[in-house]
Order: sequence, then C-alpha cells, then structure tokens
Amino acid sequence: MGDIQKLLGWIDGQREEMVGLQRLLTAIPALAPESGGEGEDKKARALAAWLEGQGLAVENHPVRDSRVPAGERPNLAAVVPGADREGAFWVMSHLDVVPPGDFSLWEGDPYAMREKDGRLYGRGVEDNQQGLVSSVFAALAFLKNGVRPSRDFRLLFAADEEVGSAYGIEAVLRDYPRLFRRGDCFLVPDGGRPDSSMIEVAEKSILWLKFSVEGRQCHGSMPHLGTNAFVAGSALVLRLAQALPEKFSRVDSLFEPPYSTFCPTRKEANVPNVNTIPGLDVFWMDCRVLPSESVGDVLAEIDCHCRKIEEEYGVKARREVSQSKASVPTPADCALAGRLKKAVKAVYGVETRVQGIGGGTVGAYLRNAGYDTLIWSTIAETCHMPNEYCVVDNMVGDAKVMLLLALDQK
Ligand SMILES: [Zn+2]
Repeated sequence: MGDIQKLLGWIDGQREEMVGLQRLLTAIPALAPESGGEGEDKKARALAAWLEGQGLAVENHPVRDSRVPAGERPNLAAVVPGADREGAFWVMSHLDVVPPGDFSLWEGDPYAMREKDGRLYGRGVEDNQQGLVSSVFAALAFLKNGVRPSRDFRLLFAADEEVGSAYGIEAVLRDYPRLFRRGDCFLVPDGGRPDSSMIEVAEKSILWLKFSVEGRQCHGSMPHLGTNAFVAGSALVLRLAQALPEKFSRVDSLFEPPYSTFCPTRKEANVPNVNTIPGLDVFWMDCRVLPSESVGDVLAEIDCHCRKIEEEYGVKARREVSQSKASVPTPADCALAGRLKKAVKAVYGVETRVQGIGGGTVGAYLRNAGYDTLIWSTIAETCHMPNEYCVVDNMVGDAKVMLLLALDQK
C-alpha cells in the first residue's frame, strides 16, 4: 500500500515535466510520406534521447521505407523489468500525427504547444502524445522510486498509425516476433471517452467494396441497341442493401449498433449528358461485419446476387475488395479488462463498460496476433481537429491508471 501511494504521489508531482515532454514532442512534426512528411525519425530521436536522459533505455525496431530521408520508420520499445519476467504488460502509443489541416482555423502555430486553463493545445497533443506521455511517466514512476512492477512493463512507440500501420505495428509483429511473448497483453491509449467510461475490446470486420456493372452505351432514343448499366446497377444496389442485413442478422449487444451494417455509399458519375444510355455504373459499399459472422460468407452472398443481376439484365457485374480487415475480439471478461475496470474506478471513481466499435483500429493487428488488447483512455475527443487539445488532468490520471495496471499484473 505504501508503494502505491508513493508512486501515485510521485506522478502528481510530475505535471510540469509531463507538459514539458508534450512541448518537446509537439515541436517536431512527424507526418507520414502520404501526408507530405518525412516520417517519425526526428521525433523518435528526440524522445529516445529524452528517455535515455531519464535512465530509460530504448531499442529501435526500424522498418525500411525508401520514401523517407532516414530510409526507415522507427518503432521504439522500452522495458521496466518486472519481478516476474514471464509475459509483459504493454502500453502502445504512436509517434506520428495527422497534418494540421487549414492553418487559418488554428488559434496559434499547431507545432508550438500552448498551455491555457489546464489544457495543452497543438497538433498531436491528444492523438497520441497524451497516451504516450502518460505511459512514459507511469514507467518512470517505477524507475525513479526503485519499485518493480509485477511483470515486465513495456512501452512501444510505433510509427505510421495514422495511415494504416504498414510501417508500424503491423510490420513490427511480422519482422520482430521475438519482441513479444505469449501471454503479453496490451493497453492502447488511443480512443475512449471524456469521462473515462469506455473500454473497447472488439471491432467489426471492415469490408469496402467497389461494384462495376457493365452494359452497353447507346443513344437515349434507341435503348434497344444498348444495355442500361445504370438500371442494372440500381437493381443490384437495392437488392444488396435489402438482402445482406436480412441474411446476416446476428445481434451482439457489445456493439453500437448491435448488428452488421451494409451501406451503399459512394456513387461515381456516369455520362454527363441526358441523351446517352450509360454503359457503366460504379458504386461502393462500406460493410461492417460482426466478428461472429463470416466475411467469406458475405462475399459469397454478394457474388450470388451479382450473378442473378447478370442473368436478368444481360450485364457484367464485378466486385472488387478495396479494403478487408477482420479482427478477433478480445474477450470482454479477460483478466486485463477486469484490472482496468478496477484501476479506472480507483483513479477516476468511474464505472466503465466494455464495448465494440465499427472497426479500423490498430488493436486489430494485436488481437489477430493473439494478444488481449484494450483500447482505453480519457480523452477530450479533439483528435484530428484544429486546436486539438489535451486536458492535463487526463494525462496525469491516465498515467496513474497505467501505473496501477503495471503493479497489478498477477
Ligand atoms: Zn491516434
């Protein structure tokens, strides 16, 4: 008990240092090449030097990327050794940020952090430096006070989260499998609610599809000489929008909404003039499938409807998968979730609920690799916005939650 109070008190005393680290990190833009940037190299070097100055050694797990000046993307890891070396508790945050967007919407320089009324303003302060800094100070609490966590407490500062993690956690899991061990579990402080109440354990599988229906173009006055792709495409989209939710109708109350969704979204322009029968119709669907349903079955059902439309309308109907990401859920009653509920209650006095979301988080890579992974943090939800901010109290409180989790990994 003495140790816990000592460590929590130490974190309370580190507000200014936490703000200082935020300022340092904000000043170094870390944008992916897709966003016109040079990657995370400079920011990673500054963070590594800062951590080493505090006595925390970091190891880089670079991933080659010829598009950036450094030739590689950094993925840093640090460890506070535990009393028991089997299985680690990880906190994974990311180094990269999204571009500021329209500068005129910012009240100051996005890369010069401003502090006002208990908030820090700047690009990246919430997404994901808040979680990053919290994890750093949870780790330093052990080092500076000579206390050991129950198991290894490991930090991962990953690259490339904002544009898909191909040079970040996805590559690290593939290229450095020995960094992780069976039984490791992860907290990803990159999502959550302002009142700390949401723990995300699962996501729906994402399936983005492009449909091309090909008929034959002809003059609007002579429709018998062609095949109207617009009409056939419209029949197909209506059929899919009706049949897919009927066929894949399982309900899982972990999710909001609690069922799979199949939404026609983008529609591409066809002919520019009114007197031509269009020969090509292109539309897209965004499907979010419950983990308990099979994406393969969804695709088979879609193909079946395409064949029927081809027969009925004399067209060719093709579908391409532009993105497909399935995710294994972390059990809502896993040990880490129980500990996190306890820790959040202790620090914030808040009851949490576990939830699934619509998909597309980095958690999917870790879960698919077999590691229990929770996404949780206390955030103002200003990620990617102009005047993004971080509430200092949240940064400090979340550091305490991470500390309690690292103490309680038995
Ligand atoms: Zn993020």
